[in-house]
Amino acid sequence: MEIGANLNNLKQTIPAGCTLVAVSKTQAADRILEAYETGHRVFGENKVQELLAKYEVLPKDIQWHFIGHLQTNKVKFIAPFVSLIHSVDSTRLLEEINKQGGRVGRVIPCLLQIHIAQEETKYGFSAEEVTNLLESGRLADFPHVRVIGLMGMATFTDDTHQVREEFRGLKDLFDRLKAAQIPHAEMKELSMGMSGDFPIALEEGSTMIRVGTAIFGERVKPHPRA
Ligand SMILES: *Cc1c(COP(=O)(O)O)cnc(C)c1O
Repeated sequence: MEIGANLNNLKQTIPAGCTLVAVSKTQAADRILEAYETGHRVFGENKVQELLAKYEVLPKDIQWHFIGHLQTNKVKFIAPFVSLIHSVDSTRLLEEINKQGGRVGRVIPCLLQIHIAQEETKYGFSAEEVTNLLESGRLADFPHVRVIGLMGMATFTDDTHQVREEFRGLKDLFDRLKAAQIPHAEMKELSMGMSGDFPIALEEGSTMIRVGTAIFGERVKPHPRA
């Protein structure tokens, strides 16, 4: 009931054409099903094992997005079904996604994660690295990967001005790469914005928001070593 109401309220506030990814990490399958039953189909997970367990038990028409740091040795587990990987943060990972996509006969949609926050711990390419990668033409070597845009996470801070500047910087990069019309690098989706900052992200041009807490409520923190 509450989950459904949260989802419906959110959907009324976001612009048409913007995708809402319901971030269901740490949520039990029955709570995800509750969201599913309102008609929602796009869910995001950040741990491979957890995603696999949920994929097994939940309806097969769910579009699963992977949003967390992805280790190369785990790509093979999600390659058969993942709808979009938001968090490609190295060329090595692209190579592996390409390999596993080939193995299962798929072209896997991906976003390149850009490091925009001030925090040291966030993964991602710098603007310069991603520009070099795309201009190098290397994406042509990865026929089982389809890059369709960029993803970024702003600094976790109450300073809304800083958050806005970080999103704006990412949108500028997105627009520059889009204007450059680089082969094999379609700039269609810009994944930015979470529960705490998605209104700003939408104002700054996000096409895809990843929202957990604002739909499902506060997460019960998993064990730090889980
Ligand atoms: C957990 C997570 C989210 C959602 O966070 P909320 O604050 O609960 O909305 C979005 N993106 C990524 C990459 C996450 O890990």
